[in-house]
Amino acid sequence: MTAAQPYIVFGAPDIGAAEEAEVLACLRSGWLGTGPRVASFEAEFARYKGVPASHVAAVNSCTAALHVSMIAADLEPGAEVITTPLTFCATVNAIVHAGLVPVLADVDPRTQCIDPDAIEAAITPRTQAILPVHFAGRPCAMDRIMAIARRHGLVVIEDCAHAVETQFQGQPVGTFGEFGCFSFYVTKNICTGEGGMIVGHDEAAIARARVLALHGLSRDAWHRFSDSGYKHYQVTECGFKYNMMDLQAAIGLHQLAKVGPAWQRREAHWQRYQDAFAGLPLGLPTPSSPADRHAHHLYTIHVDAQAAGIARDDFLSAMHARGIGTGVHYLSLAEHPYYQSTFGWEPEAWPQAQRIGRQTVSLPLSPALTEGDLDRVIDATHALVGA
Ligand SMILES: *Cc1c(COP(=O)(O)O)cnc(C)c1O
Repeated sequence: MTAAQPYIVFGAPDIGAAEEAEVLACLRSGWLGTGPRVASFEAEFARYKGVPASHVAAVNSCTAALHVSMIAADLEPGAEVITTPLTFCATVNAIVHAGLVPVLADVDPRTQCIDPDAIEAAITPRTQAILPVHFAGRPCAMDRIMAIARRHGLVVIEDCAHAVETQFQGQPVGTFGEFGCFSFYVTKNICTGEGGMIVGHDEAAIARARVLALHGLSRDAWHRFSDSGYKHYQVTECGFKYNMMDLQAAIGLHQLAKVGPAWQRREAHWQRYQDAFAGLPLGLPTPSSPADRHAHHLYTIHVDAQAAGIARDDFLSAMHARGIGTGVHYLSLAEHPYYQSTFGWEPEAWPQAQRIGRQTVSLPLSPALTEGDLDRVIDATHALVGA
């Protein structure tokens, strides 16, 4: 190992000259808050998803998107929402903040997405919603999930934080359920620093989510302070401070413009890893179905200490020592003390998520990686596994 090699930052964003210039132009325009750049980012995102602009609302995170979507879905207080244990804590925290009760259903080990059979088994008379997470960018089984939802009269809210590009059988995810929630956090497929988007097919519900995301004000700040003159606003409900700024949208506009090439680069990285690790005693991702589009947000390997000859946490440390940043997506949510003490969750109750959470490692997959970076990750993995 040569000491001079730079650290490979996990999930490094790919920011170019266009983003820099737009941010500068935004700063110089004097309009940093919610305004024309957010409006164009919304319009471009709607176009990318193939939905009318009135069916999207930009917010300042996916967590915010999930929170206001669940409120706008008008679920009864204390209703149960079924989701996956193999997700970021934000998914479940948003359920709790919306005054609802999270119920976990285990994942399908082949897809690592929520298992429709486990959803069915978790339904009770109090269940009112399903919150699937398109894990790593692979679509959940939306045909089966939507059929379950219809049969039981449940609302579906999709967590699309990994899944900007994802399609299930030709249809973009986020357009199946009442709401789809996207993330533009720094490590995600499109980044605005912090940011999120709500997609929905009920115009009134999206309009309500938009109002909820800005204090419950009847008109957003863009309309109030534009050059058409002062307009009074009314507070129509007790909302939140979740609006996206033009400064964020300035980055997002140019990230979205290159979403296709960035996805192709990640897909090529993903395939290179698949080929390079084929002979190693590791769990590798299931190939993606040709009928779907995998967003290739994460490339995750499973390190079983017995088979691989190295424990997962030792693998993480050894990669760090070699200057390679990795991630863990995710420890089962049932491993965390807050959920254990609040909901009595024990990891054993969701054995697939428990096992995956204890074995999984996400390798760098950013479009900003060079071929040399990939060589380093591949060589390091070969040196550490099965040695
Ligand atoms: C990142 C992430 C979120 C939260 O997104 P933010 O934009 O950071 O709020 C929610 N769910 C999943 C699965 C995520 O990966």
